[in-house]
Amino acid sequence: TDQFQSPDYFLVDELLTEEHKLIRETVRNYVKKHISPIIEDYAQRAEFPVQIVKELGDLGCFGPTIPVEYGGGGLDYISYGLMMQELERGDSGVRSTASVQGSLVMYPISAYGSEEQKMKYLPKLATGEWLGCFGLTEPDHGSNPAGMLSNIKDKGDHYLLNGSKMWISNAPYAQVAVVWAKDESGDIRGLILERGMEGFSTPTTHGKWSLRASATGELVFDNVKVPKENIFPVVKGLKGPLGCLTKARYGIAWGALGAAMDCYDTALRYSKERIQFDRPIGGFQLQQKKLAEMITEITKAQLLVWRLGTLMNEGRATPQQVSMAKRNSCEIAANIARDARQMLGGMGITGEYSIMRHMMNIESVITYEGTHDVHLLITGMDVTGLNAFK
Ligand code: FAD
Repeated sequence: TDQFQSPDYFLVDELLTEEHKLIRETVRNYVKKHISPIIEDYAQRAEFPVQIVKELGDLGCFGPTIPVEYGGGGLDYISYGLMMQELERGDSGVRSTASVQGSLVMYPISAYGSEEQKMKYLPKLATGEWLGCFGLTEPDHGSNPAGMLSNIKDKGDHYLLNGSKMWISNAPYAQVAVVWAKDESGDIRGLILERGMEGFSTPTTHGKWSLRASATGELVFDNVKVPKENIFPVVKGLKGPLGCLTKARYGIAWGALGAAMDCYDTALRYSKERIQFDRPIGGFQLQQKKLAEMITEITKAQLLVWRLGTLMNEGRATPQQVSMAKRNSCEIAANIARDARQMLGGMGITGEYSIMRHMMNIESVITYEGTHDVHLLITGMDVTGLNAFK
């Protein structure tokens, strides 16, 4: 097909198994049939295509690495990465829905939850019967979540939760929220909230120019009574939310690369078809420079995320390596989207092509799950041993 070619300049496909390729093909076909034809319209209207929740569940895109006994896919990290790559080739918002559900809601329940919590929530989240969201960021605490003000007080048979969260993906449609709040000793704890709990509301965030097809909202807790069985029993401190973020950031490293690939594919095709001065614009050196640099960066990033995936499979990947890959993929996706947009001239600013939507989406992807600056500081700290955060 002429759509959705996969740039593979260094034959990275040879590093994949038949199962990996089959999984990629399945998600790619889904995106081609069910996302690409509709997503521009939803993004223009700033509407969440709610039907994708069930579809992504059926496809196995929710919690692919979660064990099968809890409804997950039991797959490896390369499979998970390829799924995110293909989803984000369609739209970063669609990939965000899957990242949040799998890595930020299902993963903490599976890693930190009690057996009852796992049995109650994971199977329904895996199928998409329930949608989940993850509340860490607050109005006054983004890059520095340790300063959070949301808090719980022990009231004997329940906790009383107060505070608020901001910028929460999936919030307006979620039945379940994994929320981080401080207990009376100041330790960060994780709680599972359900829609309908008294005092818990999820107002929608309007006016975004980015991730318009993803629903974003606040979480407001006004004396919410949370049953004791809804707290994660063991995990305490920032390592709880950070452990989930490492999994999600890993997926973003592959995902943002998918957006970059789609921009490159689109610009490459266009450059061969668009005639100016009696020649395809792809024949001009200035346009070739852009394409050559795009494919070079995509190829480097492909090798980086593949290697990171094998380290994840072996349990050897460090959060710092994940930070580097997330940051790199966002950087190249932002640059490639911008160059690709220019290559399409005026057509590049319209919704006829996916590039401008990717370009705007990447502005969120580069900011959420740790900003570009924060990931750079993580690398800086790792190589120097000196903390530049504070
Ligand atoms: P700030 O932390 O205020 O940062 C502002 C600027 O200061 C940035 O450029 C940052 O890099 C810089 N900066 C901060 N600290 C330092 C430092 N020490 N040194 C140098 N520079 C620094 N959060 C969730 O919990 N759940 C979600 O589902 C979720 N979804 C999101 C969806 C979207 C569309 C967006 C935009 C955000 C989402 N977020 C979510 C929030 C996101 O993770 C935060 O926006 C992000 O962590 C940055 O926080 P902030 O916006 O408060 O920016």
